[in-house]
This record gives sequence, C-alpha cells and structure tokens, in this order.
Amino acid sequence: MNVLFVSSEVFPFAKTGGLADVAGALPDALAKNGHTSSIILPFYKCVKDAGFSPELFKKLKGFNLYFLKHNGVSVYFVENDKYYNRDELYGTPQGDYPDNALRFGFFAKAVVASIPHIGDLDILHCNDWQSALIPLYIRLFHKKDAALNKLKIIFTIHNMAYQGLFGREFMARLSLPGKLFTPNGLEFWGRLNFMKAGIIYSDAITTVSKGYASEILTEEFGCGLDGLLRTREKDLHGIVNGVDYSVWNPATDKFIAKQYSGKNLEGKEECKKDVLKEFGIKYDKDQPLIGMITRLAEQKGIDIVADAMKEMLALGADFVLLGFGDEKYNSIFRSLAKEHKGHVGAKIDFDNALAHKIEAGSDMFLMPSRYEPCGLNQLYSFKYATVPVVRAVGGLDDTVENFDPITKKGTGFKFKDANRESLLAAVKNAVTIFKDKTLWNALQQNCLSQDYSWSSSAKKYEEFYNL
Ligand code: ADP
Repeated sequence: MNVLFVSSEVFPFAKTGGLADVAGALPDALAKNGHTSSIILPFYKCVKDAGFSPELFKKLKGFNLYFLKHNGVSVYFVENDKYYNRDELYGTPQGDYPDNALRFGFFAKAVVASIPHIGDLDILHCNDWQSALIPLYIRLFHKKDAALNKLKIIFTIHNMAYQGLFGREFMARLSLPGKLFTPNGLEFWGRLNFMKAGIIYSDAITTVSKGYASEILTEEFGCGLDGLLRTREKDLHGIVNGVDYSVWNPATDKFIAKQYSGKNLEGKEECKKDVLKEFGIKYDKDQPLIGMITRLAEQKGIDIVADAMKEMLALGADFVLLGFGDEKYNSIFRSLAKEHKGHVGAKIDFDNALAHKIEAGSDMFLMPSRYEPCGLNQLYSFKYATVPVVRAVGGLDDTVENFDPITKKGTGFKFKDANRESLLAAVKNAVTIFKDKTLWNALQQNCLSQDYSWSSSAKKYEEFYNL
C-alpha cells in the first residue's frame, strides 16, 4: 500500500507531545513492513533551526513543497513562512496563535494540492484537528478527481479535547459553504469545529487505545462530540500506540549517563545519580525518585500532584518534573521547586535529552491524568525499568496492570479517582514495595518484559487499511 500520513508534528522534526512520536514512528514501521510511506507536515522554524535541509521539490500555488528522505520514509514539508516560520507550533504559554484556523486551513488545502505530486496513494491518514478539513475538502470539492476519490481516508483522534474551535467568520475564509454551519455539520455551539469535519467526512476513524475508543462515546470523555461519534461507532476503532525502541531504549540511549539493559540494572543507578545532580538533590539509594515529563495542562492532573506534594515527600520520596505549558502551572512548579529545594526539582522547558535522563534515572513515573488517550511515557518507562504510577483511565488503564505482591504479577500502580487521597494511596503503595528489593526487582522485570514495539501496532493499522 501507498500511505500518506498527515500530521502537524513529527519527531524528530517538530514535537510538542505524543502525536509527534506516533507520526515519527508509524510511517517508518509501515515502510519496514514493505509499504510505501510518506509524511507531510508544515515547514516550521524549528525544522530550519535544527539544521534539517530538505530540498525544494515543487513550487505550488501559494507555497513550496520541500522533500527529505528520512529512514525509509519520504517526508514533505509545506513551506509558507507567513504561517509557519514562528517560534512555536501552535502558540505561546499565553495562548494559541489567533490565526490557527488560517494556518491549518491553509495546511489542509496545501496537502490536497500536493497529493497528485506525491504519488499514486491508496491511504490518506489524517491526524487530529489540524488535518481534519482535508477529508471534507476532498469529498466535497474534488468529486470528479479519480485519484483523490479512490483514496481511503482515515482520521485518527489523538486527543478529543483539542478540536480546533474558531469563530464562524472563518467559514468563508476557509471556503467552507455556509450551509455546513449547522449542528449536524461543522457548527459546535456557535463556533466552527474542525474535528467534526474529520469525523464526518473520513471513511474510518481510529483512536489510540481501545479504552479511549469506548470512553469517547460517553458524555464524560466525548468533549461534546460523543453524540456525533456514536453515529460512527461501527467505523471507530482503538489501536494502541507503540514505542520506537530505536529512540527509547536504555541499552542504546545516548542521552543517559550510563546505558543499561534489563539483565543488569546497575547503570540505572548511575542515571539516577545523574538526574539528581542535575536537579540539586542528594543521592540516597533507599529514597525513591518519582519522575514526571509532561505538557503542563489540566488534562495531566498536575494540580493534583501539586496538592499532594508535601505528603508525597513525607513518604520519603524525591520528585522531579520536566514540563512546559500553561503559565499558571509553570509558575506553580517553579514555586514548589523553590519551596522544597533539595527534594523537588522542576525544569520548565521542553528538553528532549532531559526527558530521556528522567525516564532512565527515576524509580517511578507518575501519570495522574484526568483522561489519557494512550499515554506514551508509561510505555517508555517499562523499557527503562521505571515503574509507572498512573490513574486508571484510557490508555493508562489498558497498558498498566496493578502489581500484586502475593502473585508478583503486574507492571505498576493504578488509582481510580482524580484526587490527592487516591494518588497518595498509590504512591504510598509504590514506596512500600520499593523498600522490598525482591518484590521491586520482580516488578521491574515485569515492566521490562512488556513489548510495545510499533511493528505489532503497525500490523493492526495495515489490517485496518485493508478493511
Ligand atoms: P501528550 O501527547 O498528551 O502530550 P503523550 O504521553 O502521548 O502525551 O506523549 C508525550 C510525549 O512528549 C512523550 O514523548 C514525552 O516524553 C514528551 N514530552 C512531554 N513534555 C515534554 C517536555 N517538557 N520536554 C520533553 N519532552 C516532553
């Protein structure tokens, strides 16, 4: 099959979260399985700054299309400096860029215009609201174009909460017919909703775990689109994300202080010392280190962590966080690090190298998400023998099994409610088991035995493309 993957972020070119990791790895896994696979994304400033130098491939109306071969995958970049040559991908901590509707509306049109130059495609795989207008443009405006019409269009939802909501005035500016502005069309409580276009006009919809696929059909997790999703229930599938073990593997990880593997975890202790030093925390092998790497957004339950911090430290744990996001949370964690100097470290930044160090150097990895479509760091944590402590929701609930000290089965610690007491009970449990080295080793080995390589998830996508 010939597949074009459309994403607003792709690792290693541009990344703010998990979508980039998926868009970086899935096309590669498909190529390894013998398919022709391409990706298209905006040509952001960060791509230029990082020194990637794609070649000019085609001059098209209003933009230039650039090309680069990366591993086995053809990567296309839509260049329009007015829209994409900015410091961030979507906005600053103060808020989203006000012209995001135009930026990603333009991207959608540019992708459609690029398709004839990219090849004889079978599958067009769009992701999240930033590419959600593409199915609409193709199905409504290109009915007579045989090459576009034969495409099977898949739309993957990585997060229901980000739908691309804009003022009605953008309808005309994006060439969207006014008659589509109804509750059955693109309207969402008086605003234009990009994600609705993806859900309505795609042939099939996927999301990134089985648990989340059923959750989003409910009012609690559907973010106002559960009704629409229920009309497409038979076309909605959950496929869990994989891990790119060429990027996330302590045996080969170039960012960490000492490489290690499951057979010998001594290197992990060196990594712990290294992270603690980075954050000015004293090393004590009997004191567990809890790590977090996250977008600082309400979704991630970080207010609950802030609330529980004192008691968490009282359990005898240290805590480090790498995060970036809403200014309100950025400043809460800056203050917590000051208040608990020597036991709490916080780096408010996006830092890929430090993310690897924290995965390797932490004993436990905390993910108290209010909702979590899949979650990737718990899967990375397995590989680094870092035990996840997670809220039992979405992909976290699907992938982490509560540890039972009697049977010695399980891969982490789960808690049900999004509150301080519930989180603390799970952390307390983890700290207790940490003190029993035999049990802790058994738990780490269970984590290490997990296999989330992309090849098996990519196979599921292939089956799905073939349906
Ligand atoms: P989401 O996509 O909701 O942000 P995921 O768990 O699916 O959450 O993926 C998050 C990805 O982004 C992981 O690869 C994680 O390591 C990375 N990440 C998140 N915040 C940061 C940060 N501040 N610095 C470096 N990497 C980060």
